[in-house]
Amino acid sequence: MTDIRITDVIAYPLTCRIPVPQRTGFAEFTAMSIVLVEIRTDAGITCYGECLGRFAPTAYAEAVRHLLRPIVLGANALDIQAHWQRMQRSLSGRSGGMLLEAIAGVDTALWDIAGKVAGLPVHCLLGSMGRQRITAYGSSVNWLEDDVARADTEAFLAAGLRSIKVKIGAPVERAVARIGLIRQIAGPEISLSVDANSVYSVDDAIRVGRALEAQDYLWFEEPIAAEDIGGYRHLRAHLDVRLAAGEQDYTVQQARELIAERLVGVIQPDVARSGGISETRRIYDLAHAFHVQYCPHVGWSGGVCLAASLHLAAAAPNVLMLEYMLYPNPLRDALTVEPVGRLVDGAAVIPDGPGLGFEINWDTVAQYRAA
Ligand SMILES: [Mg+2]
Repeated sequence: MTDIRITDVIAYPLTCRIPVPQRTGFAEFTAMSIVLVEIRTDAGITCYGECLGRFAPTAYAEAVRHLLRPIVLGANALDIQAHWQRMQRSLSGRSGGMLLEAIAGVDTALWDIAGKVAGLPVHCLLGSMGRQRITAYGSSVNWLEDDVARADTEAFLAAGLRSIKVKIGAPVERAVARIGLIRQIAGPEISLSVDANSVYSVDDAIRVGRALEAQDYLWFEEPIAAEDIGGYRHLRAHLDVRLAAGEQDYTVQQARELIAERLVGVIQPDVARSGGISETRRIYDLAHAFHVQYCPHVGWSGGVCLAASLHLAAAAPNVLMLEYMLYPNPLRDALTVEPVGRLVDGAAVIPDGPGLGFEINWDTVAQYRAA
């Protein structure tokens, strides 16, 4: 079966309250949104993707309905790269932002179709590394009071995770104290990293980086603004701790300098933002060529994003770990009939059914549908 026509593309914007509000160095989050994309075919196969759509999800849904749907309607669902190119060129000018996040949902659904047609999990289509599980790191210790940070850390350890990420922010003195506190709680054997969500100047990032080196942290994520490539060059030249970034990159072209100049040791594309499975694979392949490791960014995404991230992690030769949010999230935990990515001994289980390997729970879609 090599000719399967797309008969409809449907977008469902979904919003839910986060049961435990989250605080980064940048902002507090009390709600989350995604867009679920459904593609129907004349073979009776129906598949799913997810767009990041964190704010104004109905605007993303409109982009899928009115911009991307007409491009792929009636076309062969298996021509995935042809569709990616046509969708990416649907607007003139430099593309990124909402368009690429909307494309991500359609592209991921097309890979789900290809897997279901072949009767294989998507990670087999990508060229599997033969993994059944991927080591997970706990994300993230909140940038709140010390007693909350302590409780978060202890919860991650109790869940069996051996690697933990800590949110930090300004002022630098408080961040340095937090870096020392979490090392003291976790002990020397636990792998620790921090995420600053781009809040520092280059000078402050160097001061924080020195503390990370002293406390043997694994990586320093998004120390400065994503656009400040010159700043990353400066940090790379002056710090020993490895830098991590990439969750704000939409395409391999945008991640190219971070990777090809080896400014980061860890690249972190989000499949629901970085153009879907097709473009995220291009990013980890480029990173592999430069001996840069790949950690899927998952964050406050839904169950389809997590499933797609697990398939990519199962296939990437250079994967390090998977970001695993331990906090309750209805759009991850209840979007699929069976929860995706069960944790076993600090590792998430790779789905092994055809396609992305889940069934949608339509009660959850109805409960959280925004429009
Ligand atoms: Mg981050």
